[in-house]
Order: sequence, then C-alpha cells, then structure tokens
Amino acid sequence: MASFRGHLTTSAILGAMYGFAGFWSLGIRWWMGALGSGMTAMAGLLPDLDSDSSVPNRTLFRIAAPFAGLVTLQHALIEGLSLERALLRMLLAFLIVRYVCCYLMRKMTVHRGMFHSIPAMLIAGLTVFLIYLHLEGRLRLFLAGAVVAGYLSHLILDEICAVDFQGGRIKKPFGTALKLFSQNWIATAICYGVLFLLVFLVLMGD
Ligand SMILES: [Zn+2]
Repeated sequence: MASFRGHLTTSAILGAMYGFAGFWSLGIRWWMGALGSGMTAMAGLLPDLDSDSSVPNRTLFRIAAPFAGLVTLQHALIEGLSLERALLRMLLAFLIVRYVCCYLMRKMTVHRGMFHSIPAMLIAGLTVFLIYLHLEGRLRLFLAGAVVAGYLSHLILDEICAVDFQGGRIKKPFGTALKLFSQNWIATAICYGVLFLLVFLVLMGD
C-alpha cells in the first residue's frame, strides 16, 4: 500500500498536468483548470476514506467536510435561498460529513473494500458531474474527468505497490484495488446500485 504522502504527491503532479492540459488544449479558463487540478489531487486520496488508520481517515474528512459545505452553499445561493438559510444548509452539510459520515465510514467499511474499485471511481466522477449541473457540458466533463483521473491514480499506485519488483513476486494485496467486485456481495450490490442510479440520473438530466 502506498503511503498517504505518496498518493498525494502522485495525484498532485497528475492534477497539475491535467489542469494545464485543460487550460492549454481545451481553452478552459485558468481558474477552472486550477479547480480541476485540485480535484484530481483530492480524488487521489478518496479511496482511503475507508481506511481505519487515523491519519488518512481524519485528514480526508477534515478536507471533505468544508468542501461539502462550500458546494452546498454554492447550490443554495444558485437556488436563490436567503443568505441565512444558505449558511444553515452549509453548516448542516459540514457537520453531517465531518461527524456522521466519518463515523459511519469507520463502522461500516473495510479497508480495500469496494471503495477501492472501478465502480467506486465511476461513482465519484458521476457525482461531480451531477453536482456541477449549472456548468456547461464540457466543463462538467472536465471536472468529472479530473476526479476519475485522481481516483484511478490511487488504485493503480496501490496495485504497483503490491508488486515486489526486486523479488519478482506479487504480494498479497495485489488485485484488491483495481477491481470490479469484492468478496462482500452486499457491498458490491450497494456499489452497483448507486452506480446505476447515478447513470440513470445523468441520462435523465441530459
Ligand atoms: Zn488505497
């Protein structure tokens, strides 16, 4: 398993390249490119939300909670809510992600479960695509692609770290990151259920 710092370094470098490529070749504005870079970097940490060890888990929820609060605030203001109600929603989103989701994640997931999988990566990308409903199609795709790229970098790095190149052998966790199914069929079914629901919502929205 790659370290927290290893994942962050990899996804941050990838994010810088992704954001620059969007700016340079797709003509995306610099601040949108920078947002894409940040999303790639953050998504490179997302699969370890299921980690029980405190550093990645606590750090990730500390980052995810204010992010969820800001996205909620943005949506509430776009909806035309008053500032007080928008701020209340922001606070609620922050508290739910920071404490409720963090608690549930520790209790209900196992490390290297379905959070380390290809369908989970697609769920992350589709969620971002749906969150940024108010943006034009290519920007939504750009941001969703940023999350998929970061998430994929994490899964690939975990698999690479499971190969002992000097000893020429494959260590035990190999195949537990870049996978389509887990041994827990309930977790697999929930993951595919959420994935199909999001695909349905995207198809209905377009
Ligand atoms: Zn991992």
